[in-house]
Amino acid sequence: MILSFGHNPDLELLERAKAALSEAALDFQVVVCARSTLIIVTSDSDHFSGHKFSTLPGVVKVVRLGSRTPLALEGGRSRIEVSGNGGKFLIGGEREPVVLAGPCAVESFEQISAVASAARVAGAQGLRGGAYKPRSSPYDFQGLGIEGLKLMQQAGQANQMPVISEVMSPEQIAPASPYIDVFQVGARNMYNYELLKELGRQRKPVVLKRGISATVDELLQAAEYILLGGNLQVILCERGIRTFETSTRNTLDLSAVAVLKNLSNLPVIVDPSHAAGKRDLIRPLSRAAIACGADGLIIETHTDPDKSYSDAGQAITPSTLAQIVQDVRVIYGALKTHDEKSQTSEPVVASVPGSVMSEREQIFSGYRQS
Ligand code: PEP
Ligand code: MN
Repeated sequence: MILSFGHNPDLELLERAKAALSEAALDFQVVVCARSTLIIVTSDSDHFSGHKFSTLPGVVKVVRLGSRTPLALEGGRSRIEVSGNGGKFLIGGEREPVVLAGPCAVESFEQISAVASAARVAGAQGLRGGAYKPRSSPYDFQGLGIEGLKLMQQAGQANQMPVISEVMSPEQIAPASPYIDVFQVGARNMYNYELLKELGRQRKPVVLKRGISATVDELLQAAEYILLGGNLQVILCERGIRTFETSTRNTLDLSAVAVLKNLSNLPVIVDPSHAAGKRDLIRPLSRAAIACGADGLIIETHTDPDKSYSDAGQAITPSTLAQIVQDVRVIYGALKTHDEKSQTSEPVVASVPGSVMSEREQIFSGYRQS
């Protein structure tokens, strides 16, 4: 059950409603959204009539929870401002898509500084890089930890780029927070509910990656944990899922991007790097992601890709990154212009008896006649 108090509610009435719910032994959470303040009743309240809640003073609407993800569908921010290290950008909400780039892992001061400045020159707005690395093998490089975050912050400051980095446990959040502008939840941790709950208590944006075998609905439920904590700045990330296909590391599920954009108002970005696992595929997949409506890309980039400590095969060079940034502008710009034109112009139909010809058919019939 959700009780909406509308925009700028009477705080005294809100307190009275909270007291009434507590008296009825119902658990609840208050969430302040852009256009309304909501009380989400989290304990089972189906046996109460909706009338009991709608008559509470101050309540403007009562919504029964038909969905398990009311906040992920409607409650989060659709446009998120990311700022840090003297840089700032907006993501989502019909804006030109953003490109976030950087190495899989922070390796050294020289490496992260070189990648950051090259990524900046290529047109990336945010710097990614892992300091706590979730590696499949415990024998692989595990990341530089907090020292890596400090190096990344320095590189971000030198290039006015906010930084995005992964945290893997609730305990890592407080020490990492001074150095991170956007928290990343990795695919392996999408089901780490204690981590999600703690990120819900933060007031910094979170990029939530889809689990390797997670459904769209499970991704939205994971987002719901963060949103329910009051952190409304969740950015969803499609990064490929595990399928029977072996020619790529994972299968980039672009249909999930379109589905998420239809269902939810949260920004959606695409990580082609972990989806493909191969550098040659990053540019075409990036193009496709923008064409299907992604609000941004997050791409592993290295000044010497083959020497990357981790995920070397999928790292691209800064010059490929620059090409992708141009692709993003061209594709987004062309589709926007096309959509605006088709909204204002009348649909073209030919006067052929008994049939309606599409614009494309008319062009082809013109060729045939001439
Ligand atoms: C990463 O971004 O470096 C990473 C480990 O990604 P994922 O969690 O999607 O595998
Ligand atoms: Mn990686």
